[in-house]
Amino acid sequence: MIITKQKDKNEILKYLKGEDKIFIFGCGECATVCKTGGEKEVAQMKKFLKDSGKKATGFVIPDAPCVASQVRTALGKNKEAVKDADAIVIMACGLGAQSLKENLREYKPVHLICDTLFMGAVDKSGVFKERCSACGDCILELTGGICPVTRCPKGLMNGPCGGVDEGKCEVDRSMDCAWALIYNELKDRGKLHLLTVYNPPKDHSKMLKPRNRSLK
Ligand code: SF4
Ligand code: SF4
Repeated sequence: MIITKQKDKNEILKYLKGEDKIFIFGCGECATVCKTGGEKEVAQMKKFLKDSGKKATGFVIPDAPCVASQVRTALGKNKEAVKDADAIVIMACGLGAQSLKENLREYKPVHLICDTLFMGAVDKSGVFKERCSACGDCILELTGGICPVTRCPKGLMNGPCGGVDEGKCEVDRSMDCAWALIYNELKDRGKLHLLTVYNPPKDHSKMLKPRNRSLK
């Protein structure tokens, strides 16, 4: 899931300076879970626009605005309301915003009013936790299912570093050292021999941006 947070309201008003009629795009997937672009937040945005002397010409919450076909369907069903608007506000991640922009048939200013933070998993208490950095060459098989690229602040491929203290990370003592977690996990599974395997440095060419992949 892509984790987002909404921008400050004053910042949003700066974006909308000189634009009074606004169409709102939400997101039915990640931004709904993050409470940044679901039904409730879109309704709050409509009220905020009204309270700020602006008008929402309409809104739509496609399941996933990062999917071109869904953006096009949503735009098609709201042609008049979009046409009538001075600008579009999108409450989603940077993927959704750029997908929207790329699928607009006619130019219309698009304002992304959320910050995209990271790819995260949601734990049982509802906390978003960064667990993968999309390195393009996964080593979870060798590390007990714990990602050192993401969970070690230094991204060490072989650890721990000399700063570990009683299983805690030297960068933040409130945090478990990723490599201590990996050690404990491999020990529990009877796979400590995996720690004798040297993990070569990451091949950053696999992370060269922008990355594209076709299923065809
Ligand atoms: S090693 Fe970590 S960053 Fe790389 S793909 Fe696996 S989980 Fe993601
Ligand atoms: S203490 Fe552990 S998690 Fe922290 S930087 Fe060193 S190896 Fe990485």
